Amino acid sequence: MMDKTLFSLTGPLPQGSVLVGPWDEATHRLAAKRQGHVFGDPGVAMTLLKADGSAASPLTDTSHGRLIFIHQDAFAGPEGSDALILWLENLAELRRPYLTTLLHGGLEGALLVRFFRAGLFDALAMPMTQPNWVNMLIRAEKRLDYRHQSHLILESAGQTRQLLRDLRSQLGADSRRSMGDLMGAQESLEAANQQLTTAMAELSLLYRFGRELSSAGNWDEVLRDILQNLTDFVGAGGAALILRSAPGGGYSPRQTWQWEESAWDKVLVNLNDQVDAAVAESIMAPGVFRVNSNLATPGEQGRRIIALPLEHQEMRLGYLLLLFVSPEERELVSSRYLPFLQTVQVVLSEEVASAQMLDRIRDIGAFNARVLETVRSSIWVLDEGGRTVYCNRSGQELLTGHAAPLMAPEDFLFKVGRGNVQDMLTENATRTPELILDARLKLDDIPGLLLPALRAEADATFRGEGQVLREDGVGIPVLVQTSMMPGHVRDETWLVVVVEDLRDSRLLEAERLKSDQLEGLVEMSATLAHEIRNPLMGLSAQAELLAEQLGPDDPKSRYIEVITGEVERINETITRMLNYVRPYQPRLTDTAFYPLGRDALDLVAPRAADKGVALEFAELADDQTTADLMLTADGNQIKQVLLNLLINAVDAAPEAGRVVLTIGARENLGLRDARTGLSQSTAGLVIEVADNGPGFKAGEDHKLFRPFYTTKSSGTGLGLSICHKIVAAHGGDIMADRIADHTVFRVLLPDNKAMEQMPLKMKENF
Ligand code: ADP
Repeated sequence: MMDKTLFSLTGPLPQGSVLVGPWDEATHRLAAKRQGHVFGDPGVAMTLLKADGSAASPLTDTSHGRLIFIHQDAFAGPEGSDALILWLENLAELRRPYLTTLLHGGLEGALLVRFFRAGLFDALAMPMTQPNWVNMLIRAEKRLDYRHQSHLILESAGQTRQLLRDLRSQLGADSRRSMGDLMGAQESLEAANQQLTTAMAELSLLYRFGRELSSAGNWDEVLRDILQNLTDFVGAGGAALILRSAPGGGYSPRQTWQWEESAWDKVLVNLNDQVDAAVAESIMAPGVFRVNSNLATPGEQGRRIIALPLEHQEMRLGYLLLLFVSPEERELVSSRYLPFLQTVQVVLSEEVASAQMLDRIRDIGAFNARVLETVRSSIWVLDEGGRTVYCNRSGQELLTGHAAPLMAPEDFLFKVGRGNVQDMLTENATRTPELILDARLKLDDIPGLLLPALRAEADATFRGEGQVLREDGVGIPVLVQTSMMPGHVRDETWLVVVVEDLRDSRLLEAERLKSDQLEGLVEMSATLAHEIRNPLMGLSAQAELLAEQLGPDDPKSRYIEVITGEVERINETITRMLNYVRPYQPRLTDTAFYPLGRDALDLVAPRAADKGVALEFAELADDQTTADLMLTADGNQIKQVLLNLLINAVDAAPEAGRVVLTIGARENLGLRDARTGLSQSTAGLVIEVADNGPGFKAGEDHKLFRPFYTTKSSGTGLGLSICHKIVAAHGGDIMADRIADHTVFRVLLPDNKAMEQMPLKMKENF
């Protein structure tokens, strides 16, 4: 898991320290020098620590306290963190002056919090800096001292208890002692009892404070409880803990007990100044101050607060304040409980500092995670073997084509990819390296192996275009930028790849090109139409004049009819061509499709009758009524589509053939998104026109919708392309199919509400 030499200690080691874990030779020597004890197995260490202090114990007596260093690898493996927690809890049970410090290789905050709760005193990330080490020792020295004192009280309490027991039995045995002696003995018994009770109460309170604070999930409640207990215990009128919201920020009450809110401002205004400029008389003991609260009338009346500044590493975190009803009361309490209050001060300072530090770490982590998870760019991080260490949400969506959930900060670092180390490192690898989630990256400027090439770039910063090839076959044009970051383990570096999806900008580019071309086409067509129509009009006027001169009975007037007919056809073609090239925006209104279908059939009826073709409107599906066939659409233009399709069908049908129009509503049209190529669920109408004609040539179906594609001698080849244009402008789709000896033209029209969400699709088809 981790390199043993990672944890070689260089700093001074306190006397009698206990080291648990796989330490290197240098550490063994260092420990031996300070009469330290090194254990590879935490179980063995625990057994000996339990026996510590007994005559049989091989641990050298420190007569003070012990600092226990735990090497992270002593608790390796999947169950390691739980084992460490259990170990720490067992140690706490011993109630000995021990402090534990975990030396680790950068554990995540949530895990550290669990360890702290289990009773860990400190944690240092390796490799460790000298100042961190020294600061830890200073903190430990203070805390060890406090633990040692508590331990002594505990021991002396035990001794006193024993003494009392002896005294009692002595009293029983010596019952004939004089009355006076008895009284005296009883008095001293009571006094001893009193002392014992106070000492025990102090101790248990302190023990509770430390324990509850370090394991507190809900600080507000625990702090309130502590302030209440403290107030009751020392007989104060109220208590408050005030803290800085941020380093350098202002002070505000974090929790209070029996302290009026309205009095706060006055206390806070002066607090820092009064403590900093503490005149001799305001100092009760080192680190304990009387504060002029301005609560009552000035002078002696107002001086009723004891302030205990909470400090950590020369930084003031806040104050513990105790309120008293009178100055006399305050002096009395302080003389009695001063050492106790000072211990409370140390405990609170430490707990507040570590809680604030953990909060800050968590905040920063959560903030970073949020930012990374919500940016539009895809960010992914690969380790040296090409395995994905992290991939943000956009990244996962880009690489898989599926929507990815937002990651919680706790899940932030995890391995999502597989990576193929062999492919990455073997020079003759045939495939492009697999980078993540089965998607592959190809860069235009790097033909070979990607990972080594990217790492070899100067500072590993690369910028270039390429393609992400997704497992579902979709290729996505991308812009890639890379950089390096330090990995979890020393000397390891991770590759950070930032990928921008170029699909939208490419689409826009294509869009612009198309519209440029279209503009040219429109202009050209308009000029052409003008140039052709003018002489055409002249031609038809001349023909009419000629017809008049010839008279209706002249056989030559047949030629003139041919001329006028052809002129009309050219004119019609020009109108259609202009219709096709002119930009079209549908005029959307609520449209009933059933009557629309009827109208279209009526208009085509004469043409069908000429040919003996039967025209049918298919019956509605069982679960549908004409009211279901409503849609927001451009009715006139859709009628044009129906007419074009019906005319084509009648033309294609054989003599005495059959043409059927069907309209139905669907829950899901199965339209495909132009951008992702994935089908999306959209409700709408399906229109089908079927005929029993010979159909089109196999494989030609995509050509049918091209402008000027026609197989008819008198066709313009514009009918279907106009249909396509109208349908696309509605966000729909049109296609030709051959089903059971019938030619079927199918139109899919989405519900207009759904269409508003797909502007790209509409534009692309246009
Ligand atoms: P036009 O009808 O002027 O030829 P269209 O764009 O409407 O122009 O049709 C293009 C071509 O598509 C037709 O010439 C024909 O070859 C083919 N086509 C259209 N509808 C059918 C159909 N129902 N059956 C077979 N072929 C068809």
